Amino acid sequence: MEWYIGMDLGGTKCAAGIVDAEGRLLARDSIRTGAHRPAREILDDMADQAIRLAATLGADRARLRGIGIGSPGTPDNHQGVVLYSSNLPFRADTAIREALSERTGLPVHLENDAACAALAEARVGAARGVANAVTLTLGTGVGCGMVLGDRIYHGFNNAAGEFGHTVLVPGGEPCPCGRRGCFEQYASATALIRETRRAMARRPASLLHRFARDEGKVSARTAFQAMRAGDDAASEVVSDYIRMLSEGVTNLVNILMPAVLLVGGGVSNEGDSLLAPVRDYVEEHAYYGENVPHTKIALAALGNEAGIIGAALMAAESDAG
Ligand SMILES: [Zn+2]
Repeated sequence: MEWYIGMDLGGTKCAAGIVDAEGRLLARDSIRTGAHRPAREILDDMADQAIRLAATLGADRARLRGIGIGSPGTPDNHQGVVLYSSNLPFRADTAIREALSERTGLPVHLENDAACAALAEARVGAARGVANAVTLTLGTGVGCGMVLGDRIYHGFNNAAGEFGHTVLVPGGEPCPCGRRGCFEQYASATALIRETRRAMARRPASLLHRFARDEGKVSARTAFQAMRAGDDAASEVVSDYIRMLSEGVTNLVNILMPAVLLVGGGVSNEGDSLLAPVRDYVEEHAYYGENVPHTKIALAALGNEAGIIGAALMAAESDAG
């Protein structure tokens, strides 16, 4: 069986792994991205990382057929560049594919990171075998990857999928994209933490303070933990968060009607505390009409490894033509 290297490049770290053609992760490695540095240095480190992973294979190195890179922003695989990224120093003339391919001797493919996660889930994860599946990743931001008609949907310019920057609340929370009230400003882990902090400032007696102190910080878990301990302020934070998330998910369902919509990322670790109310809301509010099958809303299955696996599978599918 052929093997591939999947690289999940982020603003903080680059996680990479060896993945077989059936999506099994065989080995992994993680380095700091150092995104403040020149692109050349980052690419050198990524090439070193790929070479180091390949070296662990010994004679099996001959099985390696290619490298897939999942990058934030707008990668253009045809040109082998990232056209735009808000948190990496790549520019439209940074020849990423060429640089890595030269150093490693392997063909290199570029794809958006959220799209990689969605592809992994649609091929070997919670939406395995499903031709129309959308994966939302709730983390620092909100990622949205769309597999439609069995293929990643890119838009004409590779920039599709920025569902995080659709407005839920006109005039609402400011967003780095320049608009106000974007979905990301209500549904990301960052937003949940912001609202938890605000509730703590308003409610000095809330159990939120105790859980934040025990963990040493306010995290996306804080509000859920305090809610489960019966705290009112925490229940409000969680229910506001879930309401906004549910409205966004319902919008997405109404536009795309995927067979499966998956929720992943850090916040999804809350499992059914998060998902059950979202599912109920979407069931009640999505525009299905009578006799129409409903979208299945579920948790993503591959966790932090989805990006690596999806990048590798994308390289495998390009390899197969
Ligand atoms: Zn925005």
